[in-house]
Amino acid sequence: MAEIKTRCLIIGSGPAGYTAAIYTSRANIAPLVIEGMQPGGQLTTTTEIENFPGQPNGTTGPQLMEDIRSQAIKFGADIRTGLVTEVDFSVRPFKAKTNTGLDIEADSVIISTGASARYLGLPDEQKYSGLGVSACATCDGFFYRKKRVAVVGGGDTACEEALYLSNLASDVFLIVRKPHLRASKVMQSRVLNKSNIKVLFNTNTTGLYGDEYLEGAHLVENVGTSNEQHYDLALDGFFLAIGHTPNTGVFSQYIDLDASGYIKVKGSGTQTNVPGVFAAGDVADPIYRQAITAAGMGCKAALDVERFLNEEGLVG
Ligand code: NDP
Repeated sequence: MAEIKTRCLIIGSGPAGYTAAIYTSRANIAPLVIEGMQPGGQLTTTTEIENFPGQPNGTTGPQLMEDIRSQAIKFGADIRTGLVTEVDFSVRPFKAKTNTGLDIEADSVIISTGASARYLGLPDEQKYSGLGVSACATCDGFFYRKKRVAVVGGGDTACEEALYLSNLASDVFLIVRKPHLRASKVMQSRVLNKSNIKVLFNTNTTGLYGDEYLEGAHLVENVGTSNEQHYDLALDGFFLAIGHTPNTGVFSQYIDLDASGYIKVKGSGTQTNVPGVFAAGDVADPIYRQAITAAGMGCKAALDVERFLNEEGLVG
């Protein structure tokens, strides 16, 4: 076990964690960032980012994360790959252990662990995981060139994944449980105008089938009505895009969560119920969940840490 002391431990990367690292570094707080096993978080699995300010020609998720990360390193952030597996927020300095053998003591903590893709909960999802079932079109879409795929969900992620896949696959079916899409108007119109995307409204998936690999999905349309219809849809790929679950498991003993598992913060700030522990980004934001709002919240958390360390006389 290597022991490290820091004035600010940032747990998790993504726009929130890396932005918090830029601000705390520039404030001479010398943060330690434990960036997880997927440095950059969810954005590293997306393609085009067209709505991040200052990027008039767009950028990609991985590029944006690499840019913010290198900006944090430039100002002196100590960024390490690894997972925080255990914390003790009962006394200060706070303590954390990582799966890479670090034993950390921290005067303050920013939690920015993001959220993970949600699954439907069908037993077959695990059976065909990597054999036709995926929660990341940009990671796995390549394997479905000229094949038939489905995306489940009606939000921006589902539309984005369907559009991405429509440039590779022959047919894309968007399985939407409601009679309408939840996605932004611009994404809706792109999906509805794409000739090889078929939107299946009012449709739920009840199971998957196939011998070794996925061969299709059992669907039900208009469930619970006089028009209820069950049918099988032949597919090579089945992509989940039904939202995310915040990554809070390791903190739940100490940190107050809302009913959906998101970290509760005070007012419009980033303070959790434990003084000195702050939260930023998707892990604490069930509403906006954008790269830019996560980055903004990372900035707020850094400023909150600076104020906290000053008040506690822990600066310098
Ligand atoms: P959302 O929560 O917005 O949408 C989830 C979708 O999955 C909804 O259509 C929901 O249906 C459906 N769903 C949830 N559970 C189930 C289930 N058990 N069975 C079937 N369908 C289900 O999540 P997203 O990941 O799409 O988006 C999260 C946030 O990120 C949003 O704010 C979004 O705007 C943003 N985003 C922005 C992007 C961009 O600007 N480029 C790209 C991607 C995301 P229902 O509508 O019935 O609840």
